[in-house]
Amino acid sequence: MLSTFVLPLFLASASLVAAVPPQVRPYFGQGANDELRLIKTSELDPGTWVTEEQKITDYVAKDIHFIDITDIKNETTLARLSTPQEVSTLESRAITYPSAISHQTQANPLIAQLTTTGPKTWMTALTTFYNRYYRSTTGTQAGTYLLALAKNLTASNPAIVVSTFTHSFNQPSIIVKIPGTSPNLVIVGAHYDSTGGSSTARGPGADDNASGTCTLLEALRILSLSRFAPKNTLEFHFYAGEEGGLLGSAAVFANYASAGKNVLAMVAQDMTGYSPSGKVSVYTDYADAGLTGFVRKVVVGYAGGAYTTDKCGYGCSDHASAFSNGFPASYVCDEVIKTSSPYIHSPQDALSTIDFTAVLRHSKFTVGFLVEASYL
Ligand SMILES: [Zn+2]
Repeated sequence: MLSTFVLPLFLASASLVAAVPPQVRPYFGQGANDELRLIKTSELDPGTWVTEEQKITDYVAKDIHFIDITDIKNETTLARLSTPQEVSTLESRAITYPSAISHQTQANPLIAQLTTTGPKTWMTALTTFYNRYYRSTTGTQAGTYLLALAKNLTASNPAIVVSTFTHSFNQPSIIVKIPGTSPNLVIVGAHYDSTGGSSTARGPGADDNASGTCTLLEALRILSLSRFAPKNTLEFHFYAGEEGGLLGSAAVFANYASAGKNVLAMVAQDMTGYSPSGKVSVYTDYADAGLTGFVRKVVVGYAGGAYTTDKCGYGCSDHASAFSNGFPASYVCDEVIKTSSPYIHSPQDALSTIDFTAVLRHSKFTVGFLVEASYL
């Protein structure tokens, strides 16, 4: 967080700081260890050039949120990322969301089939990788595992398409599509990379974010098994490189924006398995207000009946990438910040800390949301 008295100095130096890397470094090719990246920690932060390692050790490990803007070229997106929300005139395209949920007859029998059996197995596998750091070999292997798992879980419905979205680093994002009769998109997303606080640290990433990943996988399993045939096209996104500054989701949504895709709703889930309150938390910043209201109705109707509310700041998770590309986005988490898992971004974010009733609650939310939003 910027303190008030340093702000003028920061602003004055803005144009000088961000434009070029501060020094010439030997270039060893894309993804080299000392390649500098430009990151922003707030709208008014002009940006700082750091190494990949510094992003993790100096920011993630210290709980400082940031967005890596090195590869973001779209001027409107960059303007959004530099405009405080309270003065922003760049609003998401207005979509009117239903004032009440209305597809319980279809959603409830699907929700009744959700279990924790799969999530327990898959989360065991995901947390067994030494880490899922987006630039590590095991991070790439986790992607290979997830791709095979997604194909396996959707084999029951040949209409479903599983694909990879590749990046400049080796870990791919994975996209699973349930085609609808309309190409308009409803997206649920979760990042699957992890970090233990440095590029070489053990990073089981159980709550952050094997939990959200398995939440989506269980919802996908049931929608596939039931051969759910939506009006709108549904997509499950498993993002790479979130811990490196929202890298995977930023690339995916930049691509969707330039391709002119029509995204009706995007909901990110990042941490779904540690919840002392036993309530889903619906966050309100860098989110579309109308969609967030609709999401709350889905929580009330399908996922426990009560919710909490919080804000998580600049660049806190992948919904920010959808939002900055002009798409309506929302963020759902297992807890408010104050009582959230104290173990994330460390070797202690272990499977043993996971409450699978919380994961199941989020799977119920996911199926309820996708059934309702498939009719938008
Ligand atoms: Zn996360």
